[in-house]
Amino acid sequence: MSFSDKVLICDQVDAVLNDILKKNGLAVTYEPQITPEDLAKKIGDYEIIVVRSRTTLTKDLVEKATKCKIMARVGVGLDNIDTDAAKAKNIRVINAVEGAMNAVAELVIGLMLAMARDIPRADRELRNDKWIKKELMGTELAGKYLGIVGLGNIGKRLARLARALNMNIIGFDVVPIDPEFAKDVGLIKADLDTLLQSADYVSLHVPLLDSTKNLINANRLSTMKKTARIINTSRGGTVDENALYEALKSGNLGGAALDVFEKEPAIGNKLVSLPNFIATPHIGAQTKEAQSLAANVIAEKIIQILRGVI
Ligand code: NAD
Repeated sequence: MSFSDKVLICDQVDAVLNDILKKNGLAVTYEPQITPEDLAKKIGDYEIIVVRSRTTLTKDLVEKATKCKIMARVGVGLDNIDTDAAKAKNIRVINAVEGAMNAVAELVIGLMLAMARDIPRADRELRNDKWIKKELMGTELAGKYLGIVGLGNIGKRLARLARALNMNIIGFDVVPIDPEFAKDVGLIKADLDTLLQSADYVSLHVPLLDSTKNLINANRLSTMKKTARIINTSRGGTVDENALYEALKSGNLGGAALDVFEKEPAIGNKLVSLPNFIATPHIGAQTKEAQSLAANVIAEKIIQILRGVI
């Protein structure tokens, strides 16, 4: 079956998306640098619009997408598509949750190791000709308690990787946790307060919702161990950054690593002045494998929707 629909790819995405769509007869236009003004002029000509992170499909743009059947995000979060506006116009909105699972989970392991052994500081000091071996007494992840908040795709993958490093996994989710998975990783189920009080590392894997805004606030931070470390690779806004700054500065929290921020790009963020804080610029899904997998998933979903299979 071949299709005649026109596809506009608005951001840089793995070439496999283009290849699969073209093989299926779709006319693909690749404009990874398209401006919002240009997009507003062209969007009405396309049945399928694909974005990654750069382009935001605002209400105004969605309304101009008069022929559109599918809006696709080559990634997980749908923060850059006005899904309500799309729904009102009967446009299917799709994403690729599977793509980032392993990439984000591996980044969390990397951030935990970086904090446990102070790798960023070790590297920085050596570049300044300082051999600070004696100051770099680290700790090991094995045997430590990792509290995972949100056991969806990424949280579950992280649990499996951390288990392989002999960490103990404590988990909290607002929906029931698959018992088979829980058994596999020896999951200790807990409520959020117990998890925060018991964990050596806490990693967040929840969406940003009204109910998760500032989920980790001053009050909750104050219940954590003074040596505990927190990792957020989910969405900025789930951790109250002012409260985190105070907890880290006062020594009431051992450390923190953020990949996501309330305001991005997080240039000039005061957290980066703290020695017990490390940061990455929202690179959770930024691996070749994740991008290629996400592009594959989106291509397959588009074809299946056009075939009427899903
Ligand atoms: P998912 O939907 O599979 O899992 C999210 C889980 O959080 C669900 O099980 C849900 O029940 C749970 N949850 C919701 N509210 C909760 C609450 N108040 N307390 C505890 N659990 C709660 O999502 P995912 O694919 O695992 O992604 C998790 C997060 O990671 C999302 O915010 C996503 O946007 C983000 N993400 C970040 C990057 C990055 O580059 N850093 C990449 C991909 C995804």
